[in-house]
Amino acid sequence: MTSPLVPRMAEHTTSIFGEMSTLATQVGAINLGQGFPDTDGPHELKRIAMDAIEDGRGNQYPPPHGLPLLREAIAAHQERFYSLQVDPGPGVVVGTGASEVLQSALLALVDEGDEVVMFEPWFDIYGAGISLARGVRVGVPLSGPALRPDIDALRAAMTPRTKVLLLNSPHNPTGIVFTVDELRSIAQVAIEHDLIVISDEAYEHLWFAGHQHTPIATLPGMFDRTITVGSGGKSFSFTGWKVGWASGPADLIGAVRVVRQHLSFVSGGPFQYAMAAGLGLPDQYFAEFRADLSAKRDLLAGGLAELGFGVLMSQGTYFLTTDVGRFGYDDGLSFCRDLPDRAGVVAIPHQALCDDPAIGAPYVRWAFCKQPSVLHEALERLEKGLT
Ligand SMILES: *Cc1c(COP(=O)(O)O)cnc(C)c1O
Repeated sequence: MTSPLVPRMAEHTTSIFGEMSTLATQVGAINLGQGFPDTDGPHELKRIAMDAIEDGRGNQYPPPHGLPLLREAIAAHQERFYSLQVDPGPGVVVGTGASEVLQSALLALVDEGDEVVMFEPWFDIYGAGISLARGVRVGVPLSGPALRPDIDALRAAMTPRTKVLLLNSPHNPTGIVFTVDELRSIAQVAIEHDLIVISDEAYEHLWFAGHQHTPIATLPGMFDRTITVGSGGKSFSFTGWKVGWASGPADLIGAVRVVRQHLSFVSGGPFQYAMAAGLGLPDQYFAEFRADLSAKRDLLAGGLAELGFGVLMSQGTYFLTTDVGRFGYDDGLSFCRDLPDRAGVVAIPHQALCDDPAIGAPYVRWAFCKQPSVLHEALERLEKGLT
């Protein structure tokens, strides 16, 4: 029987995360493939969600675009960290994770044949979102040994059909954080070509010493053309709660709202109370969160380097990138397919997150958002299995 699936989704049938996680379960491997922390976020936020359930707050449909309390907290957060003024009324929308907000934005803004430009490799749901919208994805490789955005290549990718620039910094999978200079150059291209920018800032609080996240919406001429997306799951280490949001000018957010209300209608009520409190946590929370993750990054990066991997030091996110080391592999995909059997560890090849396999072939993504004991164990297994 032929598949009933619409043809444009056929290429999205399997995901590399599913494939690798299945392998991991089959052989009992340590999963450094999937990006979720193995320790929960602040207990006080759990308490707030539990109290909300207990007290009957948010147990029935909350307002479609988010609890006013949470929308106000998002606006206050944008002002506090970035001096961005957003209107918590029409300028903010809450959804079921950053994922739903991103897909809603693509469905709201991209029409058949419209081109969406993004740096390659990319976060896997972008491709599916663009296909759902019947848009055309256009990849611009992150280039050179440091995997930086190439502005000339970005400019060369522009056509009369280019409508949206989909940005992600701190960047998954590479772990790079775009510099202000890079963002300025990107902004210039967006302004010259009158693009809408969807800026996926799911890792906005996860950057390490020497780097800092700057929302592109803070640059001159950019607020009015930018949808800035945040993830409560990533910022507060509750990825299972699925609360995300976008903020920006009322016309762009209004368009996202139109689509989003017809997808999940609303996002989990009790969790929204907890996320509102999370956004107001003191600076110390965010600093400690970064410090904790930074130590885990150093542990994994140091261990992998000792084993002979070339490590591209992560500047932010949960992830670091390496080459496939001196272990006899031509590319990351074959390395990652062998790794569970050889060493009992799972990682993700960049290749699976690129249209042009040549771009990602040399690289592998490793998640370090795991307890130190897990990272130590993974390193020991790699040492035994690979050397
Ligand atoms: C995890 C992630 C998301 C999705 O966030 P949710 O809030 O879990 O939906 C979006 N973008 C990037 C780059 C991510 O890594």
